[in-house]
Amino acid sequence: MAEDLFRALSAARPAPETAVATTPDGRRTTYDELFATARRCARRLAERGVVPGDRVAVQVDKSPEALALILGVAAAGAVVLPLNPAYTDAEVAFFLADAGPRVLVAPPARGGALAAVADAHGAGLETLGTARDGSLGAALADADATFTPVPRAGDDLAAILYTSGTTGRAKGAMLTHANLLANARTLVEVWRFTAADVLIHALPIFHTHGLFVATNTILLAGGSMLFLERFDADAVVAVMPRATAMMGVPTYYTRLLAHPDFDRALTHGMRVFISGSAPLSAEVHKAFAERTGHAILERYGMSETGMNTSNPYDGERRPGTVGFPLPDVELRITDPETGEVRPRGEVGVIEVKGPNVFSGYWGLEAKTREAFRADGWFVTGDLARLDDDGYVHIVGRDQDLIISGGLNVYPAEVEAHLDALAGVAESAVIGVPHPDLGEAVTAVVALEPGARLGEDEVRAALAAELAKFKQPKRVFFVPKLPRNAMGKIQKIDLRADYRDAYATPDASG
Ligand code: AMP
Repeated sequence: MAEDLFRALSAARPAPETAVATTPDGRRTTYDELFATARRCARRLAERGVVPGDRVAVQVDKSPEALALILGVAAAGAVVLPLNPAYTDAEVAFFLADAGPRVLVAPPARGGALAAVADAHGAGLETLGTARDGSLGAALADADATFTPVPRAGDDLAAILYTSGTTGRAKGAMLTHANLLANARTLVEVWRFTAADVLIHALPIFHTHGLFVATNTILLAGGSMLFLERFDADAVVAVMPRATAMMGVPTYYTRLLAHPDFDRALTHGMRVFISGSAPLSAEVHKAFAERTGHAILERYGMSETGMNTSNPYDGERRPGTVGFPLPDVELRITDPETGEVRPRGEVGVIEVKGPNVFSGYWGLEAKTREAFRADGWFVTGDLARLDDDGYVHIVGRDQDLIISGGLNVYPAEVEAHLDALAGVAESAVIGVPHPDLGEAVTAVVALEPGARLGEDEVRAALAAELAKFKQPKRVFFVPKLPRNAMGKIQKIDLRADYRDAYATPDASG
């Protein structure tokens, strides 16, 4: 089997006229057009001096051409560095300095400002807009599509995904062709994707979820996508009758549930709804099943590994869990300090091993060494336990663990109880410095519109459910929780917002 991403994806394509992506305005991009555009991009990149192994940074708005560009980077034998279009010029400068790409592709409107940034870092600049505009767009109009894709080996790098922007300095996770292909092949199998599938694609394509999980799976299966520039509940509801599958972050499903037209009839033709990138609350899972009859299939992965676990396609999709390790992924739960395997049922850090696991952080040998055990297992930093049936329950990130009065409190457990209270829309539980306890369990809650719930009521409700040391000392209310583009709650921001909550003696609860 080919271990070269471009070859494998282009070999898998169905009849040439099959649309791979249809945008809401009805514009169809066929498989043939996608790969021809990719070859044109590759040719242009080669003309700009890109040679195999070079990095190409892609900070463009989502469009079928943007996807073709990413494939084109692979065809040129280069390594793609997808960047969130929301990154500022200063942030882009960091990535250029860190990864040293040969070319940066930016949206036309940013071209002026980014030209100097690119120049300062020795990168060439191209621009590509969603209307095939920009320098690259113009070049695509008449460029020759007869570029011969540069062959790559399985262990050659295909992508660098910058991650952990939410917790500190971003690190570039290096993914090989074999990593990406192994994971995509597994996902096609376990989620049963075929050429008959039509996927609602509303995710960004600068992140592993929308880029590799969604598009590589569809391309390998020969299916097609309803390609939305961003998530918008009205737009998703409008295309759903034509779709068979959807991948999304939990927020998408919460927003669909809030849409008046989202019901069983609308989801009639849907085969599967898949959720990941952040925890899907058991409450949302249940509400969704009640409304539509569909049990959302929750899975777990990360930039460094692609997908690691999934709830079963057949069989029980257990709310609040991320299912079982994928067939080619080994998973163990260990003591974060010693690496010793924990007995079934106990909380520890998730470690994984498999063909999907990345080869290290770009330019950060020490960080790479820290992330792997001596026997090659990757330490994910996610805390979890296995239940009696082997389902993985994630309880929070290692760095989000709260140690209050010397006792471990796992935010996910407290959040599950908060989410279950009538009137609570969403919650986040954080540790806040406390003069007596070290850290105090602190809840930040967003209420449903019109709900009236006070701090005392919330605390009283939890008092009946949780051991005293796990009960929030304070409950704060906000209109909504801060989330990043992938729907992940920014606990680092919340910890900063409430850092003085217990600073005065009379507020120490
Ligand atoms: P990223 O590298 O941006 O994809 O983020 C990966 C992190 O997202 C993981 O390490 C988890 O902490 C979190 N994550 C992904 N999927 C899930 C899930 N289904 N439930 C809980 N956390 C998740």
